[in-house]
Amino acid sequence: MTTDVTSPSTRTQFWNTEAQTMPPRDRRVLQAERLRAAVTQSLEAPFFARRIGESGVKADDIRSVDDVAALPMFVKADLRASEAAAPPIGDYRARGLNHAVRIAMSSGTTGIPTAAIWTRRDLDLECELSARNHFRLGIRPGMVIVGAHPGYLNGGQSLQQESYEHMGCLLISIGPPESIDAAERALRAIAQLPIDRWQLFPAALQRLREAAERIGYTGLPDSESIGPESQYDKISSGQECVAYLGSTCGLSAGAHLAEDYAIVEALDPQGNPVPDGTRGTMVVTSLDRDNPMIRYNVEDIIRIESDTCPCGETTRRGFFEGRAKDVVRVGEIAVLPIDVGRVLPASTEYAVVRPNQARSRLRVRIEGTRDRDIADRLVESVGVPVDVDWLDVGTLPRAAYKSQRVVDE
Ligand SMILES: [Zn+2]
Repeated sequence: MTTDVTSPSTRTQFWNTEAQTMPPRDRRVLQAERLRAAVTQSLEAPFFARRIGESGVKADDIRSVDDVAALPMFVKADLRASEAAAPPIGDYRARGLNHAVRIAMSSGTTGIPTAAIWTRRDLDLECELSARNHFRLGIRPGMVIVGAHPGYLNGGQSLQQESYEHMGCLLISIGPPESIDAAERALRAIAQLPIDRWQLFPAALQRLREAAERIGYTGLPDSESIGPESQYDKISSGQECVAYLGSTCGLSAGAHLAEDYAIVEALDPQGNPVPDGTRGTMVVTSLDRDNPMIRYNVEDIIRIESDTCPCGETTRRGFFEGRAKDVVRVGEIAVLPIDVGRVLPASTEYAVVRPNQARSRLRVRIEGTRDRDIADRLVESVGVPVDVDWLDVGTLPRAAYKSQRVVDE
């Protein structure tokens, strides 16, 4: 997702001032209280009842937010196993389909559909936290916004739609442009509308840009606002729809986490918290939900910063560095696509090559003409020698939704 930078006059306000400026110590007390309640609630789901039961931890044992570490973690594969054993939606929800008002389905990598469901309460909470995120990015009630999230079973579009309606905004939903022709049709359809903001994945904006050049449309945001650097600051790769992961305020980097409704951990391979500012595996626990998730290792890489932010918001800030599966190892160094993307000009297409055997150099494919300065900055960013294949623009495959940044050798 991308957005324009907020104007200074809008930066000092919050969607929910009380929650967003709560003293951190008070928030930790609230988190502990909500964690106890979430564990109790989760026990109504057989999946959590089994796992937490086996761990021996009782809800009443939880005295502080740090006690979350005693609870068992799970990964997506555990959810898939639960769905296979108890089709169609598994046994990990405390409130099942007869309490749900919304469903979204994806056919994962195995091709077996998996479902996300929301109760009315959980959906309202998602919209409320989305509103905090949009507000930080300068969105205000009354604005007209263009979005390109995928719809139908994917569910992204309907979540985006409802979150903007919740704020009192008008969303024009064009769907992901599947081709330049589709992008051209979308631009022609909306050409007369007064648009305040665009909320697009870089891949969608890139395709719209190519269509805009074709028809002379000049209303798209400038490319600086869709660069990897701004995406890096603002949004996770793969977690776009999870509102509690927050957004950036524009005054410091990183996304203000909605810590009153989630506990976000960054852990080393042994499961211990990593120091502030260090990359770790992201483990999240959702709070105050009908369907809580207790210690979900989402297999993303995160850094967390706890220092004070000048905007006045008091939460910790998360930096979503990429998917754990996108880590490419070069010797001792773990490289992520963002390490490459952040030194490239906005909108540059690139891919990191995953070697088929141990290597001491990283290979990267970049569209554009050979640029020694970029090559030097790449070495600095990733920390290992880099071989760059400079490709003609248009050589790498274009994605309608999210770009594939790691390719096998
Ligand atoms: Zn801030």
